[in-house]
Amino acid sequence: RGKRAFIAGVADDNGYGWAIAKSLAASGAEILVGTWVPALNIFETSLRRGKFDESRLLPDGSLMEITKVYPLDAVFDNPEDVPEDVKANKRYAGSSKWTVQEVAESVKQDYGSIDILVHSLANGPEVTKPLLETSRKGYLAAISASSYSYVSLLRHFIPLMNPGGSSISLTYIASERIIPGYGGGMSSAKAALESDTRVLAFEAGRKNRIRVNTISAGPLRSRAAKAIGFIDTMIEYSLANAPLQKELSADEVGNVAAFLASPLASAVTGTVMYVDNGLNVMGVGV
Ligand code: NAD
Repeated sequence: RGKRAFIAGVADDNGYGWAIAKSLAASGAEILVGTWVPALNIFETSLRRGKFDESRLLPDGSLMEITKVYPLDAVFDNPEDVPEDVKANKRYAGSSKWTVQEVAESVKQDYGSIDILVHSLANGPEVTKPLLETSRKGYLAAISASSYSYVSLLRHFIPLMNPGGSSISLTYIASERIIPGYGGGMSSAKAALESDTRVLAFEAGRKNRIRVNTISAGPLRSRAAKAIGFIDTMIEYSLANAPLQKELSADEVGNVAAFLASPLASAVTGTVMYVDNGLNVMGVGV
């Protein structure tokens, strides 16, 4: 039987989640995705109307099939966590079972098990503010959506992950080096995500032989990155300064995710793997 992957954080064809889904599909995996509730409608409509058909094209000429799209809001673990205003929100009221625990239950009911879990989501409401101007609320929201969401996903999906499975998240070098403009506690959230990758690799490895790795990706013009406001500057900086002077394509990150999810990486766990044209090794700009 082929592998089955659940990829959280796909809502269009521009981000890393989409590219990872494609690489996993190309390597024969069945694809399930979790889409943020407010983005669900437009994503499903666009999929249905063929808006993504060109970008669904796989190397063998076939089109990636997404077996099922699950509504997901990874800042809520179970229905008791959901505040009244969110429950009443029209976009949320139109879907059901989108907390992490309920999505894991639905996937278990529908398919029984998965082999690959991907976390490709982040949100920092105050990302455009420097850390010194970030509120407690904004900081905790960044950590909740971008770091704890991963702990929660892994925690709820581990019971349905086959032994030997693999889990991958996406991080950014702002966790360890100063990237002015990546604010709102997002740098802190990525630092937590990377530290958690090590601890979770130990715990999930011992418990279920699950591998846990994170990809530190270079800059990509995704929807989320455009919201930060400095993505073009980051892409130019990388082009000018990285050892490999080419624009990074999302597929290059997708391919490394497929490698990390495969038996080729059977001894790789707890690592931060850079897929950034080598920019992270530079000490000064040139
Ligand atoms: P993206 O917009 O494609 O992906 C982010 C996704 O997160 C979106 O689909 C959004 O709907 C979803 N999301 C936000 N809050 C959510 C929630 N509460 N519950 C469920 N889903 C939620 O953008 P991307 O840049 O591809 O981001 C994917 C990952 O890659 C993120 O972790 C991001 O930090 C990381 N990353 C991006 C870059 C870059 O330059 N784009 C660089 C390094 C790392």
